[in-house]
Amino acid sequence: MGEVFERRVQGFRVSSVRVAKARLQASIGLVLVVGSGGIALPHSSNSSILVAMSIVENVIIIGSGPAGHTAAIYAGRANLNPLMFEGFMAGGVAAGGQLTTTTEIENFPGFPQGLAGPELMDRMREQSIHCGARVETETVASVDLSKRPFKVVTDSGEFLARTLILATGATAKRLQLPGEDRLWQRGISACAVCDGALPLFRNKPLVVIGGGDTACEEATYLTKFGSTVHLLVRRDVLRASKAMQDRIKANPKIVFHWYTEAVEVVGEKVVSGVKVRNNQTGAMEVIEAAGLFYAIGHEPNTTFLEGQLDVDETGYVKTVPGTSRTSVVGVFAAGDVQDKVYRQAVTAAGSGCMAALEVERFLSEEGVH
Ligand code: FAD
Ligand code: NAP
Repeated sequence: MGEVFERRVQGFRVSSVRVAKARLQASIGLVLVVGSGGIALPHSSNSSILVAMSIVENVIIIGSGPAGHTAAIYAGRANLNPLMFEGFMAGGVAAGGQLTTTTEIENFPGFPQGLAGPELMDRMREQSIHCGARVETETVASVDLSKRPFKVVTDSGEFLARTLILATGATAKRLQLPGEDRLWQRGISACAVCDGALPLFRNKPLVVIGGGDTACEEATYLTKFGSTVHLLVRRDVLRASKAMQDRIKANPKIVFHWYTEAVEVVGEKVVSGVKVRNNQTGAMEVIEAAGLFYAIGHEPNTTFLEGQLDVDETGYVKTVPGTSRTSVVGVFAAGDVQDKVYRQAVTAAGSGCMAALEVERFLSEEGVH
């Protein structure tokens, strides 16, 4: 199955394309497994071992949020020896995904006291490795889906795989307002369902920016907790569906601010208000608020796919309903990269499980595994 390159790196022999990465992993003591027939070896082993290597991976997982790690856990336990590219600040987010940008997670089952987002993702990573996944801290620059095995290109080289799981997530759009970096997660959020119930927001006025379905849904959700929800809409119409518009307009706790744009977030240690400007009259005012929620859309991390599979009009990967199958046979997608409705850690994890099970079935139908 192709050429096997060997080079000794700190007690291991690895493929030449992976030398730099292997050195990095070995130096930080991670598990290193090479090739789809390889054996997991903790770096603490100093023995000089020749690790068998096939250059075609069973499955490469791209992305390292809850979807990617759940896929890695399942694929690892199925002895598929998965290779994950976890990204290096891909899409502006650290490896581990969106949850690394937040504080307390209270709605992931199994943690009744809640736990910090980065800690949850550290645990998932550890579990992936424990189950046999190899995790490479690299961003995938491009893929070639025109023929199988698929080609995956990173800074350190090209990798081949029989199947791919796309789990690159989506990035919530932000406005980069003055005050935003300082007060991010101190009253500013991009996920009302995740953060809305925090004590910080209870019985306080809140601001939501956006006029789409997400903004309407999130504003409505926030009325359960806030005293008033101010919706800032930059035009005089909502983009949201008619049903959603009817629902939100009937909600007495929502105050609409048409033609209104935020220009600054105000507050010392936490958010105390949002400075806004009417884009017709130029009039400025400060709306008193304890929370600011962005709902101006998400950017799915799909540019590296360069249009090689079907995506919807906003760039989300299309999957066959009820499955993780994409328009390219052998390529599966999980998590927020294919879900613009639920966007939760647990739904991402669930779809990562589906993708790994489908990969396993697919390979076994092909007689590979
Ligand atoms: P992501 O978490 O988006 O991870 C994708 C990963 O892939 C990222 O690390 C990215 O760097 C990497 N990647 C992207 N492109 C590449 C590439 N080309 N090569 C390699 N790697 C790549 N959900 C909850 O259930 N509860 C909460 O409390 C909660 N709080 C949240 C708070 C905030 C501030 C935000 C933004 C979201 C929150 N969510 C919460 C939503 C949750 O984080 C997402 O639904 C979930 O993380 C999606 O998981 P994912 O695996 O699809 O992708
Ligand atoms: P969206 O439809 O793209 O709407 C984004 C909203 O944010 C628009 O009102 C837009 O204003 C506004 N906006 C964008 N950039 C802005 C900026 N810089 N400043 C101020 N406002 C800005 O995104 P979405 O609401 O996240 O929805 C995405 C998709 O998911 C849609 O297809 C939607 O139907 C779907 N969705 C469905 C449901 C549901 O059915 N339950 C729930 C959520 C999402 P303009 O209108 O002026 O451009």
